[in-house]
Amino acid sequence: MTIHVAQPRQAQPVSPQACPALVLNADYRPLSYYPLSLWSWQDTIKAVCLDRVNIVSHYDRTIRSPGAEIRLPSVVSLKTFIQPSREPAFTRFNVFLRDRFCCQYCGAREDLTFDHVIPRSKGGLTTWGNVVAACSPCNVRKADRLPAQVKMFPLQKPYAPSVHDLHANGRLFPPNYLHESWMDYLYWDSELEP
Ligand SMILES: [Zn+2]
Repeated sequence: MTIHVAQPRQAQPVSPQACPALVLNADYRPLSYYPLSLWSWQDTIKAVCLDRVNIVSHYDRTIRSPGAEIRLPSVVSLKTFIQPSREPAFTRFNVFLRDRFCCQYCGAREDLTFDHVIPRSKGGLTTWGNVVAACSPCNVRKADRLPAQVKMFPLQKPYAPSVHDLHANGRLFPPNYLHESWMDYLYWDSELEP
């Protein structure tokens, strides 16, 4: 069996733009998971110059500034602890993640959009409890009608997920790009839970 490591452009020189830094809180946990807290290399260098972060790990890539050569940080940690928010943000990505990138009516994984279970025209809100991932064909079929009118009910009742719920699903759908130096700070805490 061949194991492919996701390093699609390894042969080409890495541009500074492709060198985001993973941002850790002062307790060395990611500042946020969903979305993963990443800064562009420019913002990272700025924060280093302002003495707001410690550099935890580097890329091999360097940039030149007048009089100095700087290795781009791949992981930084904040010097001051920020209280992380306990509730995941209500974002398109997080709704998809909660629903495991599956249409909640037919299970399709392609052509995903969003559906208001109770249509907006009938007073439905844009909230965790009323928005689900739905493929375009199901969205068109359901249109502006109530679930009972079209006999289309979500596979799971939409709910506001906890960070823990998203962690569990996030491990099934890791981001496309994860630098090796990030691995020590990602996922281990959820894997250690009983
Ligand atoms: Zn569908």
